[in-house]
Amino acid sequence: MELEGGMWLYTDRTGLGKNGYPVHSSIYKNLITNLPTQAMEFPNFPFPSDLRGKFIPWQKVQDYLFAYADHFNLRKHVHLNTDVASVKRITTKPVSSGDAHQSPNRPQWLVRTTALQGGGSKEKVFDAVLVCSGHHSVPHYPDIPGQESFSGIQLHSHDYRHPEPYTDKRVLVIGAYASAFDIMKDVYSHASEVIITLTELDVLGLGEQYKKGLLPHNVRTTPFPQAINGSVVTFTDGDTLEPDVIIFCTGYEYSFPFLDASCDVTVSEGKRIQPLFKHMIHSRYHTLMFIDMVYTPIEFSIAYLQVPFAFKILDGSLALPSEEEMNQETEADYRDRMAS
Ligand SMILES: Cc1cc2nc3c(=O)[nH]c(=O)nc-3n(C[C@H](O)[C@H](O)[C@H](O)COP(=O)(O)OP(=O)(O)OC[C@H]3O[C@@H](n4cnc5c(N)ncnc54)[C@H](O)[C@@H]3O)c2cc1C
Repeated sequence: MELEGGMWLYTDRTGLGKNGYPVHSSIYKNLITNLPTQAMEFPNFPFPSDLRGKFIPWQKVQDYLFAYADHFNLRKHVHLNTDVASVKRITTKPVSSGDAHQSPNRPQWLVRTTALQGGGSKEKVFDAVLVCSGHHSVPHYPDIPGQESFSGIQLHSHDYRHPEPYTDKRVLVIGAYASAFDIMKDVYSHASEVIITLTELDVLGLGEQYKKGLLPHNVRTTPFPQAINGSVVTFTDGDTLEPDVIIFCTGYEYSFPFLDASCDVTVSEGKRIQPLFKHMIHSRYHTLMFIDMVYTPIEFSIAYLQVPFAFKILDGSLALPSEEEMNQETEADYRDRMAS
């Protein structure tokens, strides 16, 4: 990346960026935030007052993040155009009694970085690593038999940029959450028809909205696909459709290809990072933490709250329970969430 901004650095490109690395951003050209500014801002840095209470185009979020970086003089600390290629745990020095900073729970990390614009790789040892690599870049696809046989155009919402290529096309949107709703709103005035697939968990109530006539005239809902065979999609109610385009709005996976096996981090089915206490602290290696890896709409506020917590753990002013206690609490929390 050439600038700070992460997800909010819009690019027309999909696939690989100019630097040959996968494009990180999933933002599309006409994107308007799905939260008002008060719900998005860092508590210590409000959006400009004329944007208060508004849902804003991505450009304004980018301006806000640049202004934040300037206000807190952060740019000098950021190494742009630098890929973190690997993070390896390195054995800590022998434990000297009473020194919490030397315990096996506080290993150091060997980090290898690659300069994207030449300059080769470098290695450096760090006392702690905070993983802040985002979680809206690696597409998740549902398991629909025959998906690869689809003869039309198929893409993931990560690669959706403009509505124009879908003019007069019949567009099947798979998924019924935020991206599906947003992309439907962007594409319906160009497309001949937009069909949104629902599962039992219709969080936004799109099925009800359709029944009540609240969706645009050329938008309808349908059950989830059961199979794809060439041009034909068959749904769970037996109905079939021949769409020109399928857009998978089926979410993203956690992915940390740079974490070496020595980090002992697993991601099950792209959905659960383990072993994380309070969704952020490695329960065995407390110097490895994950910031903003929770699925919540208020992402900037979460980072704002998690970082001071992380620093308290790192400076030793906040003691953690034992690894076993942390894992037990995490499992109980996980079971509760799965049951609800
Ligand atoms: C379509 C869409 C719409 C959204 N709309 C909203 C919204 O309206 N409001 C809202 O609050 N949130 C929204 N979000 C969520 C958005 O992801 C967060 O607002 C925010 O960008 C999260 O910040 P982050 O820094 O955690 O991650 P990101 O913004 O994703 O930044 C992660 C950074 O890590 C870098 N990185 C990753 N891997 C490496 C590596 N190996 N080496 C070096 N750097 C690396 C990336 O290049 C990137 O710069 C939306 C997300 C999507 C996909």
